[in-house]
Formats: sequence, C-alpha cells, structure tokens
Amino acid sequence: MKRKPYPLRTCLGCGRKGLKGNLVRIVMVDGALTVDVQGRLPGRGAYVCPREECVDLLIAKKGRLSYSLRAPLPPDSEERFLRGLLDAGIGEE
Ligand SMILES: [Zn+2]
Repeated sequence: MKRKPYPLRTCLGCGRKGLKGNLVRIVMVDGALTVDVQGRLPGRGAYVCPREECVDLLIAKKGRLSYSLRAPLPPDSEERFLRGLLDAGIGEE
C-alpha cells in the first residue's frame, strides 16, 4: 500500500522543508501580497515558517519573495509586507 504523500514546502527564510499546514502561505491577490490563512487561495504560493527569525531572514533576502511568486514587486513593498507580518505577531506562540 502506498502512503499518502505529505505536502512538503520549503521555507524561503531558513530553507528547511516543513508540512504545508505548518508554514505561512503567501500569494498574490490583485497585485498585492496576501497571507493565505485558509490555504485555499489559487495561484503560486510562497512559504515561510511562522517564526520571526525566518521572516527576518526573508526580509534580508531582498527580492526573494517576489522572485518566488514571479511577481514584479518593488523591494520596499515586499519588505513592508513582511514587516507587517512581524507587527501582526507572527512567530508569537
Ligand atoms: Zn523557516
């Protein structure tokens, strides 16, 4: 019997793989970065661990998020979005 494959995704911050459900999914909706809370929004998704450390790492990798989403975003809007995640308390247990 074949085991059901677990949906693994790679965190753009630390580069570790995690279960899809344990990572924060980010998608583009109408040209704006959006957190896909339910994991149901269509389109290409980017993933990051819900940890301040990983969001910080991703902020440092300027352009990495928009590259991953194939989205031509100005770097400062990417950073603003990620800082917003930190302000919203991502990574707080
Ligand atoms: Zn991570």
